[in-house]
Amino acid sequence: MKIITEIAEMKEFSHNLKKSEKKISFVPTMGKLHKGHIRLIESAKRYGETVASIFVNPLQFGQGEDFDKYPRDIEGDEKILSDLNVPVLFYPKSDIVKNTDTFIVNPEYSKNLEGLFRPSHFQGVLTIVMKLFCIIEPDFAFFGLKDYQQYALIKKMAEDFFLNVKIIPVETIREESGLAMSSRNTYFDVAGKEAASAFYKILSSTADLFKKGEKSAEKLKRFAVKELIKNGFKVDYVEITDPALNRKYQNAENGDILLAAIRYKGVRLIDNIIITVPEFNSGTVSN
Ligand code: AMP
Repeated sequence: MKIITEIAEMKEFSHNLKKSEKKISFVPTMGKLHKGHIRLIESAKRYGETVASIFVNPLQFGQGEDFDKYPRDIEGDEKILSDLNVPVLFYPKSDIVKNTDTFIVNPEYSKNLEGLFRPSHFQGVLTIVMKLFCIIEPDFAFFGLKDYQQYALIKKMAEDFFLNVKIIPVETIREESGLAMSSRNTYFDVAGKEAASAFYKILSSTADLFKKGEKSAEKLKRFAVKELIKNGFKVDYVEITDPALNRKYQNAENGDILLAAIRYKGVRLIDNIIITVPEFNSGTVSN
């Protein structure tokens, strides 16, 4: 596997791929790779020559967040990527964000959900993703549905700026317990991880209530919040909205998405689930 750390070299590499008419499939990550990342890479490989990136992006961490202690394991990550036959890893030096004066913002959606709790987070995410797109010029880019709002905002950015990249969503990969895989799960010990798995179980039970006929968004959210608190979680938010994250309404509808963020033992987790009645279940989110 080729490891590229310089912007100019990465640009030249992509340029040469394009000259040879190869499609570029791009998977941006912050490293400490797990099975969720691996699923993104497996999807990417089906679309073209795969470039993965690892960069713990300081722009997307707020004050007092875990930038300094965010798990890093470049050697383990390199092994995982080369075992997957990924041809190129872009592992940029931090000068990729140093001295940045221009930022990408989506003022409307960055203030909802995660944006309310992490005010500069999506500005940091959109800016780094735009930078990476400018360097790598991918034809396809892969984002996990676990970070649903991130996926939705990146898709909108690509549309708003007429980018020549197709944003492809990838399903959430979970532990057997249901807990969504996350690099931050390494903050937990075994018992903590087991306890944290109640988070997804509660989202699933809430989706079950909807299946059984409860349509009031307020009642569904109240149920979820009550259960989350009962299990020792601090709740940042529980929301139900449409897949475009637009709608404010009283009744939940088929295909809506239930999103939540909680804190447990000092670790902040997000997750979501699509709420459907069985006959509606399309199983996919449209691109
Ligand atoms: P991160 O390294 O946490 O910034 O994540 C890099 C990419 O992997 C993002 O598109 C995430 O949405 C995606 N991702 C993270 N966890 C999972 C998961 N459990 N299943 C699928 N994709 C994931």
